[in-house]
Amino acid sequence: MSLKYLPNRILFQNNKLFNINLFSSIFRQQYHKINIRKRYLATVSSSTSSDLLENIYDIVIVGGGISGSALACALASSSKITGSQKRVAIIESSDTSNIKGWKPIKGEFSNRVSSLTPRSVEFFKGIGVWQNIEEERIKPFKDMQVWDGISDARIKFNNENTGIGPLAWILENYNIHHAILRTLDQYKEDSDVDFLDNTKVQKISFDKENKDEPFDLSDWPCVELSNGKKLKTRLLVGADGINSPVRSFANIDSLGWDYNSHAVVATLHVDSNVENKTAWQRFLPTGPIAMLPLQNGYSSMVWSTTPNLANKIRSMSSNDFVHLVNAAFQLRMADLEYFYSQLGDGESVDFQNEFEWRKDVQSKNSNYKEEFPPIVLGVQEKTRAGFPLRMRNAESYIKERIVLVGDAAHTIHPLAGQGLNQGLADVQCLLKVIEQGIINGQDIGDINLLREYSSERYFANIMMLGVVDKLHKLFGTSLTPIVLARSFGLKVLDNFDPIKAEIMKFAMGAE
Ligand SMILES: Cc1cc2nc3c(=O)[nH]c(=O)nc-3n(C[C@H](O)[C@H](O)[C@H](O)COP(=O)(O)OP(=O)(O)OC[C@H]3O[C@@H](n4cnc5c(N)ncnc54)[C@H](O)[C@@H]3O)c2cc1C
Repeated sequence: MSLKYLPNRILFQNNKLFNINLFSSIFRQQYHKINIRKRYLATVSSSTSSDLLENIYDIVIVGGGISGSALACALASSSKITGSQKRVAIIESSDTSNIKGWKPIKGEFSNRVSSLTPRSVEFFKGIGVWQNIEEERIKPFKDMQVWDGISDARIKFNNENTGIGPLAWILENYNIHHAILRTLDQYKEDSDVDFLDNTKVQKISFDKENKDEPFDLSDWPCVELSNGKKLKTRLLVGADGINSPVRSFANIDSLGWDYNSHAVVATLHVDSNVENKTAWQRFLPTGPIAMLPLQNGYSSMVWSTTPNLANKIRSMSSNDFVHLVNAAFQLRMADLEYFYSQLGDGESVDFQNEFEWRKDVQSKNSNYKEEFPPIVLGVQEKTRAGFPLRMRNAESYIKERIVLVGDAAHTIHPLAGQGLNQGLADVQCLLKVIEQGIINGQDIGDINLLREYSSERYFANIMMLGVVDKLHKLFGTSLTPIVLARSFGLKVLDNFDPIKAEIMKFAMGAE
């Protein structure tokens, strides 16, 4: 049996199971990693036992999306985890070769981007991921403008002269995921993390029937894979997204609702003569439309709207789409409604002419001199895609030997760009709790230890979910008293720097 596959934290002796944690301080001083493994080899004789040990892990992470991969990488980077020879496996159903072999093309950007808060960026720096990010493809921004689609009341955030640094960084999800997997690979020699992609978790159970096992692991989750293997784990992490199989296995309900809304994303070509350094978001009655800077000449769009409108926006001609997006950012609601009315199946007006003359009339008839995002000139081929929007929060993030992170635990409307940042904050917190458990000699699957994770993350996540949901509802109505009240609120806030600073801190991840 290969030394690599020997379990790290179980000492099998005289048919009894001992937890090395009990002896950790003595062992840490006396034995090097390899010596402990040789000792296993001496005590394990039968092939059944060796197969069993090969499939026993300290931590199994289900889901190799960004949250799960970041957790695997964080564990691999931690000297407390590697120093105590924890065995980790991460299971991902999809083929990740396109992410590992990602070769970005100059002048083209993926339609899936995330805005990362300073807290997430610091976390990535700490675990060695940021060093592998393609820096020329990321855009830090210090300006943000958010305005009401009906009243045009506006709030501006600006970190330009505060010395605090960017409000956030816009990165392609590919760039983030590629950097994480590359970093994980760089830790390969010094850590014990098995990354199994193209492998689906088919069943999770407690496998209490297995009489062949020479030691009692009946309260350890057993994960059955599509390659026929069964893994036993001291701690099972569900990083497996909104429909989390781990959450279902743990019998944890997920509460929330579907927004009657889809997000349409696209990569836009914008006027390259304008410095592209601001994130823009306009709250339309059907949902917000956001333009996020990528580089001069390129921006990413997220337009949340009704499913019906989303379908039309995705399937209309590229040329008309460009002018509709310009109208959605720059024209008054009545003009935009006119564009919507032309989105039928039959003949429609010339969107470019309509946009240009309406914009011209609006500029001449108004003293209102607000700034607008750069004019959209084109859309990158095949980048229009739609995602149904939902709000969910698991009833609990933990059970004995089970913990949920990322979208498996909570899913949020993307209007504040917080979903992944919350997932990364979960990962950061879970790493801290596991490390603390190791220092204290605790079983890392023990619910009493996991409660520390849950109590820190549950409150923080539910606060963010609540704020974002309220914003969505507040701006999703055209009722005049509410429009007046929220517009008044925006104007007051815009002139009240201390409150704006607090909002910025909250959005930047300083919970
Ligand atoms: C339009 C849009 C814009 C967004 N913008 C932002 C933003 O700007 N900033 C931000 O912070 N967040 C943003 N988000 C949210 C963010 O994209 C998600 O929160 C994040 O991607 C969730 O990552 P995850 O790893 O937790 O889950 P997922 O990405 O869902 O990953 C789960 C993984 O588990 C795997 N899996 C599932 N079942 C199994 C199984 N049985 N066996 C093996 N593997 C399995 C899946 O294949 C998948 O890879 C946005 C979301 C949307 C829709």
